[in-house]
Amino acid sequence: MNPSVLAKSAKNALSRVEIDINRMLGRELVPVETTILNIETSSLCNLECVFCAYVKKQSPKVSMTDAFFQNCVEQAFGMGFTQFELTPCTGDVFMDRHIFNKFQLLEDHAGVEAYRFFTNFTIPNRSKVERLLSLKKLKNLTVSIYGHDLASFIAITKATETVYNRLVANLKTLLELLDRKQFNLDIGIRTTNDAPRKPVSEVMELLERFRERGVRPRRAHVYNNWGGYVTQADVAGLDIAVTSADAMYKRGACAHLFTTYQIMATGIVNGCACRDVDASLRIGDLHDAPLHKILSPDNPAYMALIEEQQRGEFRAVCKSCDYYKSIYHMRMSRRKDGSQFQNIEGFKDRLREAGTQAEAGFAVAEKVVP
Ligand code: SF4
Ligand code: SF4
Repeated sequence: MNPSVLAKSAKNALSRVEIDINRMLGRELVPVETTILNIETSSLCNLECVFCAYVKKQSPKVSMTDAFFQNCVEQAFGMGFTQFELTPCTGDVFMDRHIFNKFQLLEDHAGVEAYRFFTNFTIPNRSKVERLLSLKKLKNLTVSIYGHDLASFIAITKATETVYNRLVANLKTLLELLDRKQFNLDIGIRTTNDAPRKPVSEVMELLERFRERGVRPRRAHVYNNWGGYVTQADVAGLDIAVTSADAMYKRGACAHLFTTYQIMATGIVNGCACRDVDASLRIGDLHDAPLHKILSPDNPAYMALIEEQQRGEFRAVCKSCDYYKSIYHMRMSRRKDGSQFQNIEGFKDRLREAGTQAEAGFAVAEKVVP
């Protein structure tokens, strides 16, 4: 067996033992993360990547108005959130024509500490890339590159040579201005398994130059089936294997339900930002209720989602999800960074406290419908 596969299965076996023991002892390890909120400013994308659920999703493809975004931020701040993750579930922040207004709003808000996002980097022009470099609270920017040359880019994204050239131009601009950046830069690349190791294209040569400047591109090899939305037929002709995580050991509620909830571009609040393009984990809608009533221990939809996973009942998107993290498992990264944990009751107490704090703030924040 391949050594890395062997190592992974040994690690999974150990995690399984740890999960079972902690579950038996009632030791719940819910991460204490009270400051980060996911807001999807746009659910639109300009690419149609064959391994992504974007093309097949049924939910509306829209961008938030600036006023609605501002309202979300105020409500979130009222609950103690000071950092914002703007990466859409599927989509790209730059599809929102007013995204720089939203960045400015975050920059100007005295209570906001930081924000971050991923982008396919094929949409902004040079002046927008330059503007990114002046943003002070943008702490992390991740550029996701699909394909390793023009042919694989087009085969994967279904886009055109013009779009590929814009990616190349933007990477060049970023490289040229790298010394001015104030954010942590990550570059991720997803392409076919048969991609050559040597730089054979302009994009790959640029990635080498980023590597020389200390930005090490990471290659991802796992392609998830997005709750059954993506199949092997979608990537036919490409050396890509679409997998399902149905066989992954899942016991106990997923830690992401307590840390990675998301306000979607429609105003729906979803229990998780990771894989659920059609909001099957929906716990509320900001058009019907304020945020503190949705992210609340008194919200039956939210609590039911946690309880059903505690009983071992996982909805389709969670069954196939490879981001699942049991609340009975302490990840190595969390061990290392000294993360704090609480049990589910402790989590509910914190939410209740945040809700009480937000109650006063909400009285002055007007509800705005996009
Ligand atoms: S993978 Fe990203 S860039 Fe590609 S279609 Fe999906 S959301 Fe868009
Ligand atoms: S299993 Fe996946 S989709 Fe479900 S809550 Fe966890 S991370 Fe989100």
